[in-house]
Amino acid sequence: MSAHAQPKLDTAWHTLEAPRSLELLQSDPRAGLSQSQVSDRQTKYGLNELEETGGRSSFEIILDQFKNIMLIMLIAVALISGVLSFLDWRSGALEPGEIPFKDTIAILAIVILNGILGYLQESRAEKALAALKQLAAPRVRVVRDGKTLEVDSQDLVPGDVMLLEAGVQVSADGRLVEAVNLQIRESALTGEAHAVTKNANLHLPEETSLGDRINLVYQGTEVIQGRGTVLVTGTGMRTEIGKIAQMLQAVESEPTPLQQRMDQLSKVLVAGALILVAIVVIGGLIASRDLGRFQSLLETSLSMAVAIVPEGLPAVITVTLALGTQRMVRRQALIRKLPAVETLGSVTTICSDKTGTLTQNKMVVQSLHTISLSPTVSGHGYSPEGEFLSGNTKLAPTEHPELGALLLACTVCNDSILQHDDGQWGILGDPTEGALLVVAAKAGFERDQWSSKLPRVAEFPFSSERKRMSVIVEDAAGLLQAETDFLATPYLMLTKGSPELVLERCSQIQIRDRVESITPSQRQQILDRNNSLAASGLRVLGFAYKPLPDLPAEGSDEATETELVWLGLVDMLDAPRPEVRDAVERCRKAGIRPVMITGDHQLTAQAIAQNLGIAKPDDEVLTGRELERMSLQELEEHVDHVSVYARVAPEHKLQIVKALQDRGKIVAMTGDGVNDAPALKQADIGIAMGITGTDVSKEASDMVLLDDNFSTIVAATEEGRVVYTNIRRFIKYILGSNVGELLTIAASPIVVAAGGVPLTPLQILWMNLVTDGLPALALAVEPAEANVMNRPPNHPGESIFSRGLGLYIVRIGIVLALLTISLMAWSYDYAQQGGNPERWKTMVFTTLCLAQMGHAIAIRSNTRLTIELNPFSNPYVWGSVILTTVLQLMLIYVAPLRNFFGTHVLSFTELMICFGVSLLMFVWIEGEKLFFRLYFRNRKP
Ligand code: ATP
Repeated sequence: MSAHAQPKLDTAWHTLEAPRSLELLQSDPRAGLSQSQVSDRQTKYGLNELEETGGRSSFEIILDQFKNIMLIMLIAVALISGVLSFLDWRSGALEPGEIPFKDTIAILAIVILNGILGYLQESRAEKALAALKQLAAPRVRVVRDGKTLEVDSQDLVPGDVMLLEAGVQVSADGRLVEAVNLQIRESALTGEAHAVTKNANLHLPEETSLGDRINLVYQGTEVIQGRGTVLVTGTGMRTEIGKIAQMLQAVESEPTPLQQRMDQLSKVLVAGALILVAIVVIGGLIASRDLGRFQSLLETSLSMAVAIVPEGLPAVITVTLALGTQRMVRRQALIRKLPAVETLGSVTTICSDKTGTLTQNKMVVQSLHTISLSPTVSGHGYSPEGEFLSGNTKLAPTEHPELGALLLACTVCNDSILQHDDGQWGILGDPTEGALLVVAAKAGFERDQWSSKLPRVAEFPFSSERKRMSVIVEDAAGLLQAETDFLATPYLMLTKGSPELVLERCSQIQIRDRVESITPSQRQQILDRNNSLAASGLRVLGFAYKPLPDLPAEGSDEATETELVWLGLVDMLDAPRPEVRDAVERCRKAGIRPVMITGDHQLTAQAIAQNLGIAKPDDEVLTGRELERMSLQELEEHVDHVSVYARVAPEHKLQIVKALQDRGKIVAMTGDGVNDAPALKQADIGIAMGITGTDVSKEASDMVLLDDNFSTIVAATEEGRVVYTNIRRFIKYILGSNVGELLTIAASPIVVAAGGVPLTPLQILWMNLVTDGLPALALAVEPAEANVMNRPPNHPGESIFSRGLGLYIVRIGIVLALLTISLMAWSYDYAQQGGNPERWKTMVFTTLCLAQMGHAIAIRSNTRLTIELNPFSNPYVWGSVILTTVLQLMLIYVAPLRNFFGTHVLSFTELMICFGVSLLMFVWIEGEKLFFRLYFRNRKP
């Protein structure tokens, strides 16, 4: 084959041996593809992406807009006013120059415009979510040009050598080249919930069904356990999941509880509007006993129906939530499920992992401890330069068999890679293991060298439940046997893990070049050392080994990892993140309790929790073992007082979330491993780690921390509160105006019986959508008030109208109505005295609009006066007020607009009267703030 000939992909890969598959795809398990092969194949096969077929089509999105009950009502109003216009036109009642069917056309135009706006907003929101999805897209470890590196999953090509480990989501279809304890959950593809154990060494008959092809892996499935090396055979739409064109990984855009409640509210309002229409028309006819009034009564009731419904509200809520997610992403919190934005404002308890979230996850080994030596290690970061010092004396570790063996274990019992890129040392993999590679490299132990001298032949991988890992290497060349006196078997198992657990499995101890039975006092000495290191906040690992005459069977970890020979302890410093202490303080002020849940030792956990202010010295600490002995009820009794859970396994997290929720808490819970997924799903806000988190945990989460940082959770809760406060603010603003309009229209037959309805449906729509809508949008971006994190969380599930909001709407609606009704009463009589007798209607219309401008300015803060606020902190409010006022004036003074909207020219004095009355609205709200301030000050003891 020429270098550019491309392999055929529609081969039955499961029938072939791995080497044959590698040959067909011109790949190599050690070196992978070369960069030029990758570019060639990318050109030929395209990106490894699924075409989105699951989402709604544009047509469906448009259609959905018109399913909104408010729009349906507007269409009905348009049709009825069409019939009324038709009657006017036939009876010749139209005024000269008046456009027939104007209201109908205008309302329909607004309905269509609203539909288009809704469509644009929704497709923008879908695009924004797609962009978020891109941010959350997995990275994949591959071998290319002989090097292990991480690439975006979309860059994979057939022939790539992909590395799998527990927690990753498989990003392409492939033939296994190597599998170690590899278990994969394929439910996304086969619906089968149980994990399948994979085997690289088989080749299977052609007719083997998809679920039984245990030598293949498929895109979209999840690695639950173990490790594997895979030859990529299918990417993008050529994968099994691509064939059934199912979309995975969608960032869900379900409506939030608030949106659902608002939907219900609009249904109630529309029903209310219909009842109102019936009452006005039927009641009016009965009261007047005059059928001739039917048309004018119907006109009044239509205006009222339009006035009562907040047409602009759903759009403003959608925009606010979308802007909220964007602000959060700028603060490194990626929202995967829209309801999370709202729930964040109600969080009362944040359960956080320690390593990486509260600490920096940049581990540096401080010292090593064998039974007879305890050297400290100098040096910084991941640079493999430093010395071993015993007191002030330099020490050569390789001259001490115990230390040499301990450092060998650090190197060999390790899955990470130490890299030197762009002049900087870095780690690919787990930072704990990285630190061990660095300390071993300081003594001259290089992992590459040792992995060829002592090839790994089996392993029992690390998991948070086991809290240890072992690798089994083959000493084929008799290297260790020649160099040391204590190894006389062909295989060697090296184990590392939580010190107490590893020590429990030891029966012997390495003392210099001898192996002796371990005595109880030696055990105690090791445990005491472990405790004193942990109590100073250090992370400590224990190491042991075992010579093996034979290769153990797969899955025999419990039996094999016994009778070990103790080597020593390694401690490392993982400094707390400096910004977390402040974040914890902010949590406390905001009525949110931070809780640490960690797999680490209780003393390490406690020391760090105290350092960060999460726990006090006498706070209760619970360990995984204690949790196991407790029932859910017993745990519920403790859960309010415990700030630190140590040595826990992921299944305990689920227990803790449930207990907290049973106590009425709203829980945010972090997690990174495969087995954290159930707890993340159970929590009110499941939070996955963007950097260290597994794909499985991200998939289960509501929110992803792009920087893995605890402070980001606190920032996101703050943004959640701001969003909720702003939504409440513009709901007050918009509904207050609706009540004002409604009462004004309702009062008109009484106040100006012969004058007709002051506002046409068209003018009301203009107010609801434009003159209320624009300032409401501006209020949606009001920055956080200073006290947003100084008050307790919002009560979850509280009505949006609670805490005085409903009362405010009614109160302000009445004040607005009283202002406009007084103006109406006066201006009606005044207008009859000369000039255009209809211009009182324009005065009422203008006053309602302008009063809302004052309202918009004053409502920016509930407690602080406008003069106390920084006018530039939300320039949009001022911008929208100016723009809306200009638009309103254009409706009066630009002739075509005037004709269309049915307004009349006002004189300068009349306009100033409108401004003057409107100003009273602003004065009233500011007065209310002053009144409440004085009232509460006087009530304070
Ligand atoms: P957190 O849950 O806060 O992230 P953690 O990293 O300590 O803390 P786990 O990853 O569950 O939690 O680790 C639990 C324990 O297992 C650790 O305290 C350590 O003793 C041990 N351990 C961690 N990483 C490894 C590893 N790579 N190999 C062997 N043992 C490990």
